[in-house]
Amino acid sequence: MILAWVNDLCDSLQSFVGGLRTTGHFLLENLRGEGGATAITRQYPAEPAERVGDRQRGHLVNDAPRCIVCHACDKACPVDCFKMDGERDANNKMRASRFDIDLSKCIYCGLCVRACPTDSLSMTADFELDPRQHGQRYLFTRNSSQIDQHFEAADVARLHELSGKAAPELTADERQWLHERIDPKGQHLIGMFGLGYYTAEEKARVDAEREAKKKQKDAAAAAARQKPQPPAAGGPA
Ligand code: SF4
Ligand code: SF4
Repeated sequence: MILAWVNDLCDSLQSFVGGLRTTGHFLLENLRGEGGATAITRQYPAEPAERVGDRQRGHLVNDAPRCIVCHACDKACPVDCFKMDGERDANNKMRASRFDIDLSKCIYCGLCVRACPTDSLSMTADFELDPRQHGQRYLFTRNSSQIDQHFEAADVARLHELSGKAAPELTADERQWLHERIDPKGQHLIGMFGLGYYTAEEKARVDAEREAKKKQKDAAAAAARQKPQPPAAGGPA
């Protein structure tokens, strides 16, 4: 009994000293400004984030022109991050007319990247989230009532333009325009990569197609409801 207690005490002391040794090692490296330990703390945003390794799963990006809207990523995603619409181009090939990724839900599992047959989805080694440091990439938050709003190509261009402006520089009109489309407190962090509907005509056609399909489905459901049901077997004659 006493021997077991002494053994436990020795093990605890050993772990404690081992932990202190590791902490001390990094502390000394930091104080001397050597080794990789100094890179652990960065004064962000003065020192922007950097790549941390080639296997890093940083941003999930879609190289939209390669996307064939097959929905394989959508089906593979365990948390339902994707919203996409497709349309046919002049060569009758499918292309994305809308492709949003809700990054607030994303757990960076990479399943969608593995499922994508055209390699249009990938994870970058870069993980900076500040839109001003991203060039064409734009990340913003939307609330649940905004999440189904579609953006025209012109809207996407304007979002890019306004996202580069500091809040006090925005005019009242610009601020209102932004608030109607994005909500700084929204729960959905959307990754948009310069993708909207290609032309107003194509958007109108895709919308009309979607509406027609919905009407067809509703009519079929209504007809099925009106169909007389056969009498149940064994019921009253
Ligand atoms: S990486 Fe994100 S978007 Fe892709 S499947 Fe995993 S959770 Fe979904
Ligand atoms: S799996 Fe790839 S090609 Fe298919 S919809 Fe997703 S991003 Fe597009």
